[in-house]
Amino acid sequence: MNCLGIESTSHTFSVSIVTSKGNILSLQSSQYQTKTGGIVPIESAKHHREIRNRLLEEALKEAKLEIKNIDLISIATGPGLAPCLITGLELAKELNKKYNIPVIGVNHLISHLEIGKLLTKAKNPVYILATGANTQIISLEGNKYRILGECLTIGLGNALDKFGRELNLGFPAGPKIEELAKKGKYIELPYVVKAMDVEFSGIITKAIQLYKQGKSKEDLSYSLQETLFSMLVEVSERALAFTHKNELLLIGGVAANKRLSEMFEIMCKERNCKFKVVPIKYSGDQAAQIAWLGILQQKNKLKDASSLDFNPNWRIDDIKVDWI
Ligand code: AMP
Ligand code: MG
Repeated sequence: MNCLGIESTSHTFSVSIVTSKGNILSLQSSQYQTKTGGIVPIESAKHHREIRNRLLEEALKEAKLEIKNIDLISIATGPGLAPCLITGLELAKELNKKYNIPVIGVNHLISHLEIGKLLTKAKNPVYILATGANTQIISLEGNKYRILGECLTIGLGNALDKFGRELNLGFPAGPKIEELAKKGKYIELPYVVKAMDVEFSGIITKAIQLYKQGKSKEDLSYSLQETLFSMLVEVSERALAFTHKNELLLIGGVAANKRLSEMFEIMCKERNCKFKVVPIKYSGDQAAQIAWLGILQQKNKLKDASSLDFNPNWRIDDIKVDWI
């Protein structure tokens, strides 16, 4: 079976074809970026509408398939930015109507977990989901992915991007902060952990104040990474102790950061825990993860997708996990 995945929840429009065996036949993506400032949802949606048909064609070409060879369409219907979510859903509905291909709406965050598991062969890990908008410590308990801890305000990627906006780094700022941090020294910043939750926004405000007072970009980038990442490692270790699991899987856009992986590796080694991280090509938003989750959940597919809706605030603990 060939499943065509469509991702449009935020900054990236992406189309991918994945088989039921988990072979990724194609992946075509385009990211909305800015030189200064953050994501403007309407502008990102405009980017998605302009690029989507071309990406669909390219994804079919790369997989050497035609639309008639597609058995299922999987679309991320949330969580995400409403103007962006609509652009993917429009394409899914158009293909459903025109070619009678069934459609399934899937949760974007769960797709990060499932592609991580497919590509690293992790079995039953504690998941550290570090994306732009979300930071969550997750464990499968019973038939739900439970959120054991999370960011109380902004997510880790958004926190880095917010600091980056002050430095005029544009979006996404995370990779540029990683580079600047290589030349920095440590400056003390606040550290805010509450049980298994983390709170990043006050720390970013402090870092911006210090920048305005003349502290260097490099020192602040280094200190922010050390502080925010340590907080996440601390709560993750608590989650491992709490769940008695000995496998940890890092996923989401910020999983591309080498220093973050290094810190997790040190903690896991000390606890005799296996550490796995999703390959960098699949850490950020892309449609291979959407196609793969569609395959796992295919029994929920709709013949007529006209009533399918999106949900900008869809939480992963709302979903019954019946595919594992
Ligand atoms: P996602 O929402 O999962 O696609 O992840 C996007 C987020 O990951 C953005 O906030 C980026 O700034 C962040 N990001 C991407 N690469 C890196 C990196 N190397 N270091 C830190 N953050 C990163
Ligand atoms: Mg994401």
